[in-house]
Amino acid sequence: MLTLINADVGGDRTVVRIGASRVASVGEPPQADERVLDLAGDRLLPGLINAHDHLQLNHLPRLEPARRYRNVREWIAEVDRRRRVEGALKAAVAVPLAERLLLGGVKNLLSGVTTVAHHDPLYAGLCEIQYPVRVVRRYGWAHSLYVEGEAKTIESRERTPADWPWIIHAAEGVDEEAREELWRLDRLGCLTPNTLIVHGVALGAVERHRLSAASAGLIWCPSSNLHLFGATVDVAELTSEGRVAIGTDSRLTGSRDLLDELRTAARLTAMSSAALECMVTRDAARLLRLADRGIVAPGARADMLVLPAGMPLDRVRRSDIRLVMVGGIPLYGDVDFAAALVSGWRWVEVRVDGRLKFMEASLAERLSRLAASEPGLELAATVGRAA
Ligand SMILES: [Zn+2]
Repeated sequence: MLTLINADVGGDRTVVRIGASRVASVGEPPQADERVLDLAGDRLLPGLINAHDHLQLNHLPRLEPARRYRNVREWIAEVDRRRRVEGALKAAVAVPLAERLLLGGVKNLLSGVTTVAHHDPLYAGLCEIQYPVRVVRRYGWAHSLYVEGEAKTIESRERTPADWPWIIHAAEGVDEEAREELWRLDRLGCLTPNTLIVHGVALGAVERHRLSAASAGLIWCPSSNLHLFGATVDVAELTSEGRVAIGTDSRLTGSRDLLDELRTAARLTAMSSAALECMVTRDAARLLRLADRGIVAPGARADMLVLPAGMPLDRVRRSDIRLVMVGGIPLYGDVDFAAALVSGWRWVEVRVDGRLKFMEASLAERLSRLAASEPGLELAATVGRAA
């Protein structure tokens, strides 16, 4: 059992006890035989949820658009063309899938993300016990009406149980065709309470109202939208109803990580830090039907994040993160915490964006064997230590 004392949870200093990979209690004093870590007023948050990523595409360089597009069809055609002719892109696409997936997991972990909604097939590598973050497994998805066509989209929707999220890229563009996609989905019976629309750039007030009336949700990826279309959707009202989660999309079009995405969201809206935080914790968990995440409460998974005292999430950079735990296992954080944490695991020193950090040893070892690497992560040749 690990007990965190003087943890700032939602503004209150409290005690959080962790056992068997879940939160055992909040507010109960530590017991005699427990290992205690004093957070001294640091913030304790549930691990963040990235509601949209393509985990096999994060080792790619961000592709500069040749122009501002009107519709995602134009962008997909451009990527297809460049994939065949640009050497750097051809080489990146040739990196083995297992490496690409691991790098996608590490991108997320280093930014405090402990659960990712991956939008592509659920590759076997994402379900392995040693994958660094949790990947949502109970979901239905279609790429988009444009890629799948109507029959396959309907089939995917119908195959998805009502208590799983059903996720589709839609209204990704700024023209009439993009806007019309929402109404096409509606006519096809695909706008239901478990539907999550990714992007929705073209949604005007009437479409947003329809989304809300259908009790559906929106996954907002503002950096990717601005990059491709120079515009994004107005999320104010949907957010106040708890219908919006934030996703990074892959680095092909999106920002570096979810923390960067939150800063972009803060710049674009008048939302408070607390409201932004909700979109990557509580609201995201509810929309993705993840009952045991997005909150620090008894029974929730011990996927947690420690931030410096008083620091709002939309100001955090990944090297500021004091600690990330998945299922109570510390995977990344400050070295002073590593030494004080539970026994039975090994860690190594690494540098993230120039700052000294620890990383769980077997993860660092696997990363050190890859040909590709995570920019900003330096893996030192130090020997693992037992905490
Ligand atoms: Zn996407």
